[in-house]
Amino acid sequence: MADRMTREQRHRCMSRIRGRDTKPEMVVRRWLWHQGFRYRLCVKALPGRPDIVMRKWRTAIFVNGCFWHGHECENNRQRPSTNTQFWQEKFERNRARDARNQALLQAAGWHVIVVWECQLSPKRRAETLRDLDLALSRIVLQQNASSGKRYALPEAEAAIAAEAETAYKTESKKKKPRNE
Ligand SMILES: [Zn+2]
Repeated sequence: MADRMTREQRHRCMSRIRGRDTKPEMVVRRWLWHQGFRYRLCVKALPGRPDIVMRKWRTAIFVNGCFWHGHECENNRQRPSTNTQFWQEKFERNRARDARNQALLQAAGWHVIVVWECQLSPKRRAETLRDLDLALSRIVLQQNASSGKRYALPEAEAAIAAEAETAYKTESKKKKPRNE
């Protein structure tokens, strides 16, 4: 499949970029896979090297570690207590860089989704994945609707086509129970 890297490519990719295969990212990847979404990892050609890229849905997903990306959350209540200014500046820089990359992606017509490490804690995971499901459903609907327009179908036919696509998609998703 063109969308997937070989095992060797993936290995090289991961050993070059530290933290690539962190657990939170695996949670999202496994979930996406079960939902029937296919993706690429480690796409260097895109701003910010998104962790997960779904070309078909023009969607880039970042799974951000709270520490390095300077998330204001529970996880970061205990910031390093030495070199405070150094760390502060580092987190600011990382945040600014993330915002810049996301803006670049959006300007190029990509949907950007950020999932934070803290949102994938066992307690919050189910809720986060539900939100992700909603966000992706909207993207799929939107994309199907706009590709309907491209073929210049009459309004009603376009709506039916979009519905049929969605029904098929849902069916092929093989949803597992939500409260596992
Ligand atoms: Zn966080």
